[in-house]
Amino acid sequence: MSPQSGRWLGLDIGGTTVKAGVVEPDGSWERSPEVLPTELAGGPAPFLDALADFARGFGAVNGIGIGCPGVFDPATGALRASANLQPLVGSILGPELEQRLGLPKGSVRVGNDANLAAYGEQWKGAGVGLDDLCLVTLGTGIGGGLILDGRLYGGTHGMACEIGHLVVVPREQGGLPCGCGSAGCLETFASATHARRRAREAGLTDDLEELCARGRAAEGPERALLHAIGRDLGRGLSYVVSLLDVTDFIVGGGFSGALDLLLPGIMETMEARRYGTPEPRVVRAALGEDAGWIGAARLAGDPA
Ligand SMILES: [Zn+2]
Repeated sequence: MSPQSGRWLGLDIGGTTVKAGVVEPDGSWERSPEVLPTELAGGPAPFLDALADFARGFGAVNGIGIGCPGVFDPATGALRASANLQPLVGSILGPELEQRLGLPKGSVRVGNDANLAAYGEQWKGAGVGLDDLCLVTLGTGIGGGLILDGRLYGGTHGMACEIGHLVVVPREQGGLPCGCGSAGCLETFASATHARRRAREAGLTDDLEELCARGRAAEGPERALLHAIGRDLGRGLSYVVSLLDVTDFIVGGGFSGALDLLLPGIMETMEARRYGTPEPRVVRAALGEDAGWIGAARLAGDPA
């Protein structure tokens, strides 16, 4: 689905800052050098006032898209749950912003940040030309976004592609507790947080950049650990292939710089579990920190 012609503002609300930028009618885009601090100590109202002022600074736009970590109620657009933006839970960001900016109803659209990153990558990044893809964000946790038949698929309850919480080792077999309440989730094996834990347990540096540098420099325990983490990650991705027949994966997030070292392990597992599908492709995201706001801008331009 391609956006209608127009000037679209994308806002990506993160745990510490709001990133933003505009996609122009000719398709060109630029991230704003300005960011807005995500200051929620005073509750939602002052933050939403500041967000409206920030949005106003971009001049006249045809619509605004907002991405943030959390689960939105697909029916009402209310933020139902968010670990990082707890004070905003319950807010219906679209109407709140429309009201403050004097915009018509429906001008502000909202979505989950990982879903919108997938939407952004498919529009302007590593997913251009693909109708089906899974975006995996490797960071503090592991998130995912899904494009199916060219459309963003958020799921009936806004919970689609919670890939970080696919169980790869059941609790009974030693899976570690996960923040979601379950155990043995993919996230507990391959997020940046757990990569650091595994490095410490192996007696290696838990500075992931240093770990990767050593892994690239020579064969050794660092490279072996990253290979093992890759194998675990491949288990999660192979579930996606089996369930959805999606074979294109785009990996973003703070830990995605390790993809060259994770990839041999990822492919090893996925190849061993492949059944009837073509060889999967796993590539690094192209838009970096811009994927979220670009996807949000695209959502703003989607036909209602
Ligand atoms: Zn979990």
